[in-house]
Amino acid sequence: MSTQQLNALKEEIAGVIRAYHVKGWSPATSTNYSFKDDTGTIWVSKSGVDKAYFSANDFMKVTTEGEGCDEYVDIKPSAETLIHCTLYKLFPEVKVILHSHGAFPVVLSSIVNDEILFEGYEILKGFEGISTHETALNIPVFDNSQDMKTFCNLLEKNKEKLTAHSFVMRKHGTYAWGKDLFSAKRHIETLDYLCQCKWMIRSKP
Ligand SMILES: [Zn+2]
Repeated sequence: MSTQQLNALKEEIAGVIRAYHVKGWSPATSTNYSFKDDTGTIWVSKSGVDKAYFSANDFMKVTTEGEGCDEYVDIKPSAETLIHCTLYKLFPEVKVILHSHGAFPVVLSSIVNDEILFEGYEILKGFEGISTHETALNIPVFDNSQDMKTFCNLLEKNKEKLTAHSFVMRKHGTYAWGKDLFSAKRHIETLDYLCQCKWMIRSKP
C-alpha cells in the first residue's frame, strides 16, 4: 500500500465518520474507529476529536496492545482502543472496525438480557453470509464497562457468540467490523436499522 493509497483510505473512512456524526451516532467527541493497513499495522482514531471535523490526520498508529507507536507514541488513542485490538486478534481477516453511539441500540439494550433476537427482517441480508429474510439472528449484548481489560476478556470468552460481525454494549453503543470498509459499514448500518425497528415495535424485545 503506497502512502497515497493509505491516505486515500484514511480520507474515505474519515468521510464515513463525518457522515455518521450527521446521523447523530457520535455526540460530544464520542465513538472510535480503526483500520488495519496491508502491513498489519493498526490505525485508530485519536482521543477527544470532534467527529464533525474528523480528518485523515486524526488516525494514529498503535501496537497490537493498543499503545501509540512511532511518531504517535505521545498521543492518546481512543479509550476503547483495546476493544479494536482484541477484535483484530480474534478475527485476523478483519480490516475495519466501526463504533456507534446511535440512540436506538442504546435504548433497546436497556430492556433486553444478554442478546437481541432479530427475525424475518429483509435487512438481515445486510449481514455477510445471510441471503434470505427467513432467518433469525442473535446479536450479543455485553454490559458496559470502563475497565477495558475486563471487557476484552469477556469478548474473548464469548468469541463463539460474535458470529454476526457485531455486538452491542449495554446503554453504550454498537461495534461492527468487516474485511473492508464496505463490509463494516453494511454491518453497523444493518444493526442500527434492526435496533430501530425493534425499538419501534417493542412488543417482543
Ligand atoms: Zn463508545
